[in-house]
Amino acid sequence: MQTKVSAEKVTHLPESLLPPWKEIRTILQVEFEDLAPLSAVVTKLLQLSGDEKNSLDQISSIIETDPSMAAKLLRVVNSPAYGLSLPKGNVKQAVFHIGFHMVMTLALESMFFDYFRNSAENMNNLFFWRHCLAVAQLSRHLAVSVGHPSPDDVYTAGLLHDIGKTILDRYGKISYGDFIKARCGSAGLLIEEEADIIGLGHDEVGAYFCCKWNLPPSITLAVKFHHQPFAYLGLSHDDALLIACVSMADFMAWTQGMGSVDIARQPLLQKEVDELINPSRIDLNSLVLKADREVKRVADFYGFTFPTSEALRENLIRANLHLGKIITGYYDHQKELEGDKGPLVNIGKSLAFTHKSLDFREIISSTLDAIKLDFAFDRVYFMEITDPTRFLAVKHVSCQGDTCGSLTNLQVNITVRMKGFMECLRTRKPVIIDGRSEDEQNLLNTLSLTEMGIVPIISDKRISGIVGIDNVRSRRPLQLDELSALVSVAQELGTALEHAKIVENYRVKANTDHLTGLYNRAEVDELLEKAFAAAKNGKTQLSVGMIDIDHFKKFNDTFGHLAGDGVLRLVAATLKKGSRPEDHTGRYGGEEFIVILTDTGYEDALNYAERLRGEIEKLGLTLMKRFKGNPLTVSIGIASINSSMSSRQVLLNKADKALYQAKELGRNRVVGGESILKN
Ligand code: GH3
Ligand code: MG
Ligand code: MG
Repeated sequence: MQTKVSAEKVTHLPESLLPPWKEIRTILQVEFEDLAPLSAVVTKLLQLSGDEKNSLDQISSIIETDPSMAAKLLRVVNSPAYGLSLPKGNVKQAVFHIGFHMVMTLALESMFFDYFRNSAENMNNLFFWRHCLAVAQLSRHLAVSVGHPSPDDVYTAGLLHDIGKTILDRYGKISYGDFIKARCGSAGLLIEEEADIIGLGHDEVGAYFCCKWNLPPSITLAVKFHHQPFAYLGLSHDDALLIACVSMADFMAWTQGMGSVDIARQPLLQKEVDELINPSRIDLNSLVLKADREVKRVADFYGFTFPTSEALRENLIRANLHLGKIITGYYDHQKELEGDKGPLVNIGKSLAFTHKSLDFREIISSTLDAIKLDFAFDRVYFMEITDPTRFLAVKHVSCQGDTCGSLTNLQVNITVRMKGFMECLRTRKPVIIDGRSEDEQNLLNTLSLTEMGIVPIISDKRISGIVGIDNVRSRRPLQLDELSALVSVAQELGTALEHAKIVENYRVKANTDHLTGLYNRAEVDELLEKAFAAAKNGKTQLSVGMIDIDHFKKFNDTFGHLAGDGVLRLVAATLKKGSRPEDHTGRYGGEEFIVILTDTGYEDALNYAERLRGEIEKLGLTLMKRFKGNPLTVSIGIASINSSMSSRQVLLNKADKALYQAKELGRNRVVGGESILKN
């Protein structure tokens, strides 16, 4: 059941929103009492209510309880920025001069600094600290821009949003550093991967402790929901806006290469964040520059240098927001394409071709061919927006004779300096790239062009790619009118791709195992049937591996079914990561997997299996800290096709027998079918 909290500003957090202590303690290596508390000064300052924040006496008496904090405060007011010269010990005057907010900021920053200086070496602390500071600054500036009544609270929430990672790093049975090393690179969300490996996400852990430390509930909410949907909670506007600011700030920090850990995956932006913030009305550029300056100020104060980060320009962030939303699936654009749709040329073929098939490649390649004919361009190409999202990659080319070459494998890096490309992505209108900017001129030079036309393809209200055109041979100048006509075709192409996607989704759903994302048994059987038929004529080789988790039942029995599911997902992700794109990995039964190794002989298959077994054993060593006494290992049986085999079933049986023998011999090993026969 989903918990709803009142639309008033929250005064306390319902227990049901937090994980129970029982769950938290299974993933930590210490008891609650042994956890270093949040700095006492910070906790007390955070707990001050409205009026108390203006009480010099109250604030000073809190600061005075911590000599090192008091010393820092005096260092700040005596610094050139304030130009005061207060005697040692005059905390009250110092507080008077810099105000509550600055005191709070200093206290938080210094707590974080001490914490990171002393904490485990697992995570890259400097990197992480910079992320927290950047998110805090950006959160505050966003809060001011959108009219949140307490930007300082938003700042604090920004600074603390990832506190769960520091707790896990220091106290987790599986530390955050272990987690980063053990990641299998599954395609899911970071918090889901944390849950599978560590046992809980950093957001849940952070929120739990913020609540226990009696931090203001609005801050705890931001810690908990900065990656998760929160619209269903029915929060007050201010509380919701606070979460949205932190979430957006987290995303913006990522666009600048200031993520919390060195993982090249952008955080998910929930739909409600976009609705609450409406980034199109904010001057993101000045906001980032301000935050950058602030982060530098803090770094200077503590006397160290962060790795330099080039202050990126507004357009880059906007492009990333735009593209990020495309990837994360929350793009909701109302603007429809305008412009003259009246074709100047006969585009009948181009339009018709888009709907001839429901296969992506076919739709694209036949449409490109048709455009080339209808419009008499020399070359027409499809450029896909790739992940990481700053690239457009040429995927299909329709060209005259031997002119394709320079476009093959071309990747265009979308920086702000690519003015025409940025304009096309932003306005969703066709643009002629004519070398207005140096970078675009360089691109044209590389392709021996004087100009290139680009038209956005919009499907499902998102830009899914760009059609590029040029006349590399004839040198016929491009007309904007022609491109306008092409808009209609691009629109049709977008619709056709949308349909193909729907079909593709159904197909994927039908052939995929829901829990692991691998192929299901029916699909594996079909793929194996095809591979067997292809290999049977002796032209290619074929091997299969049957993989079974050892003593899996004990995971379920000891740690629960959900933890067991997590283990299945991790093993599946490891199999997928360790296999080549042309191999097929599937879930064959409960905790049994299969890998179809195309064009792979017996020896190679054994080597592959041994490598895989080792990878899982290594993952198991990390997980051992959580699943004490239950090493995660697998047994693998390998078999390869030979001319005497009459059906795929014979091949499977042989692999299955080998697997059985691997279990008999003591598990955590690879056994090959051929060696069984020899014995
Ligand atoms: P062995 O080393 O001999 O393979 O021992 P085992 O415990 O791995 O094998 P056994 O066949 O006794 O147990 C398999 C367990 O897998 C039993 C079943 O409850 C569990 N299982 C099957 N499907 C799922 C699933 O989707 N999720 C979870 N959590 N457990 C599953
Ligand atoms: Mg986070
Ligand atoms: Mg098993």
